[in-house]
Amino acid sequence: MRVPNLYIIIPCYNEHEVLPITSKQFLDKLKQLIQADKILENSRILLVDDGSRDNTWEIICELAARDEHFAGIRQSRNYGHQNAVLAGLMEAKDRCDITISIDCDGQDDINAMDHMIELYQKGNEVVYGVRDNRDSDTFFKRFTAENFYKMMKWMGVESVFNHADYRLLSSKVLQSFSEFQEVNLFLRGMIPLVGYPSAAAYYARRERIAGESHYPLRKMLALAIDGITSLSVKPIRLITGVGIFAAIIGFLGILWSIFNVVFAQTVAGWASMTCMICFMGGVQLLSLGIIGEYIGKIYMETKHRPRYIISERTENMDVNAGG
Ligand code: UDP
Ligand code: MG
Repeated sequence: MRVPNLYIIIPCYNEHEVLPITSKQFLDKLKQLIQADKILENSRILLVDDGSRDNTWEIICELAARDEHFAGIRQSRNYGHQNAVLAGLMEAKDRCDITISIDCDGQDDINAMDHMIELYQKGNEVVYGVRDNRDSDTFFKRFTAENFYKMMKWMGVESVFNHADYRLLSSKVLQSFSEFQEVNLFLRGMIPLVGYPSAAAYYARRERIAGESHYPLRKMLALAIDGITSLSVKPIRLITGVGIFAAIIGFLGILWSIFNVVFAQTVAGWASMTCMICFMGGVQLLSLGIIGEYIGKIYMETKHRPRYIISERTENMDVNAGG
């Protein structure tokens, strides 16, 4: 059994409150894994500063100066969680055998990493970290998150239930994944598309150690819409379905009105007219909106803009220091 070297990829955005606490925990974990001969000594914790406005980058530099197991890259601005994880993964893919991506707020149980690595050794190239309960979440977060997964599935996006972005990926998967060039990122829906043998490692999720969630409802909804429109064309098909339905009703309406004109007395049907116009207007605007969402996606994709820009690196992440 070959011992792999591991890069733990951690996106950080305005995390000056938690980073000093959790970085210690990550380092302890890494050292423990090294001592147990589960991973190689040259494994690293790669902190990706996602354009933080506080002193997160300074903290990362300090950590890297103090212990060589820490490395950092800084994005030129805030690109969002998904892009930060992607930047870390792409940086790591030629330097390591496996990566584990995890949030920096201490919510995900780092002790699940042992099991993840075991599952990798058993031949899985992808190991999804799956939370086995949501007791630590507020009712609202639990309710919205669970329905998020259900809606995604219904909309034709295959994603692992209750799996966020805590996952192990081998460099083989990353090499294949780097050929996915889309700028609209929804990692948890895209990784299953890459294929390779996969497994799930279960863990309990805790509350955030400090600071606040950067995923308010607004961002969650944006992520859901992004996820659906990036990975599925089902909504457009749905529109076609609604369109056919409306057309049939419309056709029946025509028959009905002709019947009325010929055989019955016609009255000024103001109410029914208004209802019909409102209904059709609503359906049309909604449909246009959904189609517009896809056109917006196509627009963004055709620009081929970079998905992240790394502006600074700690010394051990120098472009030439790979290997
Ligand atoms: N994050 C990021 N860029 C952003 C927002 C968040 O890199 O624009 C990071 C953040 O530092 C954390 C992870 O993504 O490590 C998850 O964010 P958060 O804990 O706020 O989300 P939640 O766990 O509430 O879904
Ligand atoms: Mg969190």
